[in-house]
Amino acid sequence: ARRSAGVRESPPDPQECARLAVGVRAGDRRTLAKAITLAESTREDHQALARAVMADLLPETGHALRMGITGAPGVGKSTLIEALGLHLVAAGHRVAVLAVDPSSAVSGGSVLGDKTRMEGLARHPQAFIRPSPSSGALGGVAAHTREAILFVEAAGYDVVIVETVGVGQSETDVANLTDVFVLMQLPNAGDDLQAIKRGIVELADVFVYNKRDLDPAAADRAMAQMAGALSLLRPPAAGWKPPVLGVSALTGEGVPAFWREVLRCRDTLAASSELAAKRRRQALAWTWHLIDGGLRERFHADRAVRAALPLVLEQVGAGTLTPTAAAARLLDESRGR
Ligand code: GDP
Repeated sequence: ARRSAGVRESPPDPQECARLAVGVRAGDRRTLAKAITLAESTREDHQALARAVMADLLPETGHALRMGITGAPGVGKSTLIEALGLHLVAAGHRVAVLAVDPSSAVSGGSVLGDKTRMEGLARHPQAFIRPSPSSGALGGVAAHTREAILFVEAAGYDVVIVETVGVGQSETDVANLTDVFVLMQLPNAGDDLQAIKRGIVELADVFVYNKRDLDPAAADRAMAQMAGALSLLRPPAAGWKPPVLGVSALTGEGVPAFWREVLRCRDTLAASSELAAKRRRQALAWTWHLIDGGLRERFHADRAVRAALPLVLEQVGAGTLTPTAAAARLLDESRGR
């Protein structure tokens, strides 16, 4: 039986690889789902197969508009994505929705994967919805979302929406995976300040205040306040001034205008070659992120390190060894294998 954990695997079966690549390219949903599942798997042979399929498909990737969206639970993300998604499929687009759900790593359940969300879109033949995997793999909860984006692009989806709730690292991760990053908020929720404090405001290319139908005056006040705050900040990209919009995801009011702003952002970035530079930066950052994670995993798996670690840490705790000396000794141990 093939197992993971460092055992050298035989290379992936070329026929299986070709079959998967052909299926994904043809837009076959089951094959697409299978490919993403392989990339998410913790089994080394699955990952090797996913990598081989991806290598085959790479020339067909990169053409989609990648939009990230974040906001607190209940702000209306799935309602907006449903409204926007249906608007886009009606216009002939193919829309993929990927969720990055930091709560799933903790609870094992998936808040974003809830079956009742985006029902109309989920049933649509031109849409593909993928909840986030329930384990926090190497590289964090968004680890396999990058691969999933590439797979759905190869399958012909021209709009990819990556959604996350505003918890921890996930927002930064999603901003680093997408071309246009949208921050969704509510008027009166007092979370503007929170977002500013957490540094999310600096990442956002488009600001959306939802549920404008409930209290238009409050929405307009919140929007004006955010616009004022933004005028003090450096824009996320040269030549792009982030717009602040009011929408009602429930009634659909403002949704087409919202999409026009997302397109305008993408086009502005593309025209100044900022988009290519952004994607390049993202790919390089991701590479280093994976290398860092891999090195850390190797370090902790190293037998010599494991043997030395308890005593060294105890000595640091007792003040008989400096952190500098401790780190140098452990890093030397790991090099010794
Ligand atoms: P999410 O957790 O951010 O995905 O939020 P949901 O899309 O599930 O929305 C949370 C609740 O707010 C649901 O009951 C929606 O029907 C409601 N909702 C979403 N958008 C609007 C809106 O524009 N106006 C009003 N009145 N309710 C909304």
